[in-house]
Parts: sequence; structure tokens; C-alpha cells
Amino acid sequence: MAFRFSYRPYRLPLCTPLRTAHGLWAEREGIILRVEEASGRVGFGEIAPIPWFGTETLAEATERLAGWRGEIDDEQIAALPEKFGCMRFAFAQARSAMSESAAAGKLTRLPVAALLPAGRAALAALEQKLEAGFLAFKWKVGVASPDEELPLLDDLLARLPAHAQLRLDANGAWNSRQAGRWLERCAERPIEFIEQPVAPDAEATLLGLAADYPVKLALDESLVRLAEARHWQAQGWSGVFVMKPALAGPLSELVRWVSETKADVVLSSAIETTLARSAILRAALAGGLTTRALGFGVGEVFGDARWDGPMIGPIADASCLALNPGEAMWNALA
Ligand code: MG
Repeated sequence: MAFRFSYRPYRLPLCTPLRTAHGLWAEREGIILRVEEASGRVGFGEIAPIPWFGTETLAEATERLAGWRGEIDDEQIAALPEKFGCMRFAFAQARSAMSESAAAGKLTRLPVAALLPAGRAALAALEQKLEAGFLAFKWKVGVASPDEELPLLDDLLARLPAHAQLRLDANGAWNSRQAGRWLERCAERPIEFIEQPVAPDAEATLLGLAADYPVKLALDESLVRLAEARHWQAQGWSGVFVMKPALAGPLSELVRWVSETKADVVLSSAIETTLARSAILRAALAGGLTTRALGFGVGEVFGDARWDGPMIGPIADASCLALNPGEAMWNALA
């Protein structure tokens, strides 16, 4: 079916700039998409690329949108190259918002993982987050040497209540020898999983580590879109897949893949606004996609309630979903 669309770019400073492997990230740029059927039904979607993570760039997305001159059909969207995962997510979001019935199904609740900073600062942060009610934690490792960080692991575990969970994220920083040391140490410890122990493209090393140690491993930087997750699955990856759904393509395809293959998935934020986040959380809370703590413990991101939406606490439930935030965001960009 053909429909009209228009779009408005946004540029939002982050309350707290994020340290990334590619320097400081201080501003979130993206596009709000508005689609309208001939019947007058309207839906909104969000394009929120992270080019240094491997998505299309904002310029590439804009060029495509401009080329279509405000009118498109479902076949053209379906024909978008795999690379355009953010655009594919956004058009699918806008289209499904149009057909969504007002009466949403019953929603479940899921824990949210709190992020612990690297090094000794993690200990104080853990106390704080426990007090706030969090029961799932992700500790950033691989920043200092294993000699400095490994002793802290036991300090952290000693302070962790029995019903709480700890995952580690090395962001690909270890070589295979360092990863081996950590995996050996973690083998007898209650670690939920270790995220991206070595470089994203070190496929043989990742598969080897997963086979050699009992600790569960997760891929994050190794995958952006659903196609990459499928590739790892075909290589025999039986660990966790960290998916940032806003980058991965249509949400419905992710849901179908998980239901068909029983893939073990962690959903994670791409620092999108409440427009994309609400769609992702709604899918997560509908059940069946994941039972693991959500990687959406991002706190206040933009310092503006229109873009941040409801604050996400230790437990995500229906109160975390913004109700049709697209219209207000669209108007704010006029
Ligand atoms: Mg990660």
C-alpha cells in the first residue's frame, strides 16, 4: 500500500555525555518519521542511528528519504538494503502504530539492569543502586588490567544479595589470554554472563571461548542487525545476543526470530527517545522476547520530559511506556 510520509530531524544534547570507544558522545541526532495513509491514519517512527556502531549514517538515511519525495509503498520499504536497520525499524514502527488496536494486551514486568562504572567506583555505585531497588547489574570491565580488576570482582560479589545478578561487559577489550583468565575466574562464580570479551570480529576466538568455559558469553558489538545475529546463530553461537532493537530492523522480525529459534536475547538501549523506546519496551513487556534484565537503565538522557518519557526504574512495567509520544515530539520540531 502506498502512503505519504514526512520527517523532521532532531538534535538533542545528552545530560551526561557518554564515553565511547570513539570519543565522547554529547548529542543524539535522529529523525522522527510521520506516515499517513490515504484513510488519514497517522503513525510515527524514530530513526536513531549509531554510525560508529555500524548502522547507516543520518546523511544516508536523509538521502533515501529525500529521494522518495514524500511518497512510498511497502514494497519499497521491504527493498531497503539490510544496512538501513534504523530506517527499517522506524518505518515498521510507524506502520504498526497505524494498525495497532487501542486495547493493548496484558503486559508483564521485567527487571532493568543498572550500569556500574569501571574500577573501584563500582562498589559505591552498587550500594546506591541496591538502595534504589535494582537487582540486576552490569559492571564495565577491561578498562584496567585483570590484575587490578579481578580482586574487585570478589569485593562486588561479596556485596551482592543472593537474589541479585551481575553481568560483566568487556566491550571487546581483552585479548584471548586475558579473556581466558577472566573466564577461568568466573567459572566458579555466579556471573549471569560476560558481554563481548574480545574484539567483535574475532569470530573463532569467541566461539572457542564459549566452547572452552562454562561461563555464558554474550555478543554485543559483534552484531547490529538481525542478519548478523542469524549469522552467529548459524556458526553455532548458543550464548546471549545483545540486541539494540532500534538499530536491528523491524521489531516484528526480531520477535519472530526469537520465537522461532528460542534465541537468548538481552534488549539494550541505543539512546533513542521515548518514541522508539516505548515501542521496544511494549514488545518486551508483551512477553516471549526475553526474560533477562533489560539494558535500559539509562536514567535521564535528554533532560526533557517530552523526549525522555517516563523514567525507567529497577522494574519496567506498563508505566514506562509513553502514550503516543510521536505527535508532541513532531510538533516540538516544527
Ligand atoms: Mg555491551
